[in-house]
Amino acid sequence: MHMLEIPESHTLSRQVANELTGKQVIAAIANAAPHKLTWYHGDPLGYKALLIGRTLTGARALGGILELNLDGVSLALSDGVNARYYPNGDCVPEKHQLRLDFGDGSVLACTVAMYGGICAYWDGEYDNPYYLKARDKPDPLMNAFDCAYFLTLLRGISGKLSAKAFLATEQRIPGLGNGVLQDILFTAHIHPKRAVGTLTDAETETLYLAVKKVLRAMTDGGGRDTENDLYGNPGGYKTLLSRNTVGGPCPVCGRSILKTAYMGGAVYTCDHCQ
Ligand SMILES: [Zn+2]
Repeated sequence: MHMLEIPESHTLSRQVANELTGKQVIAAIANAAPHKLTWYHGDPLGYKALLIGRTLTGARALGGILELNLDGVSLALSDGVNARYYPNGDCVPEKHQLRLDFGDGSVLACTVAMYGGICAYWDGEYDNPYYLKARDKPDPLMNAFDCAYFLTLLRGISGKLSAKAFLATEQRIPGLGNGVLQDILFTAHIHPKRAVGTLTDAETETLYLAVKKVLRAMTDGGGRDTENDLYGNPGGYKTLLSRNTVGGPCPVCGRSILKTAYMGGAVYTCDHCQ
């Protein structure tokens, strides 16, 4: 299952802005291959009228959402949307949930494997709560996400909450999901099931620093190697603990990396180091 998280939304927004800024949409089709777990904003049949003739003016990352800006209209791609760019319009998959054709013959195609959102809207009109939180909360890559802010996230929550639940649920940190979580907790030497109420001040600070450092490294690397970029290439950040490394040796102590089902997703750990 592929999911957009902070490093991927930032990588894709940079690549979309580089490739598509200034290009005009000459054809648009949404929901060509109906998919039960793809949601749209309003009627996808209306996307054609909304998008054709518009020029891409930029793109930005909002938590785990990739937002394309098209001169008054925007398009938010979230969760499991796979966005691919085809420079010559060749080899575009026949089944897709959104296809945009540009004036120079290039194509952006979006497909959804598990579930995902492809939402087009007039700027300022979209008031989906998930989107608004992703847009308005501080991004861990930014200076506004500092240690004082991180501590406010811990206030008022139950100390029984696990480290995984704290970091990766309730959109406390939009775009920090079960994917990037693994290397963050490994770097902080904290087990995903550890109750946050048991963390010492020093461990809390270590966790904060790991959130900043690991997300920065993943983003600078062009996303994780378990995910694909705009060209279908895996990201350049080599995951320490992921489906790519499970069963292999822990990079610190050499013991086996374990995979466990926990809270609706797999967690990868070294039970010696965490
Ligand atoms: Zn280890």
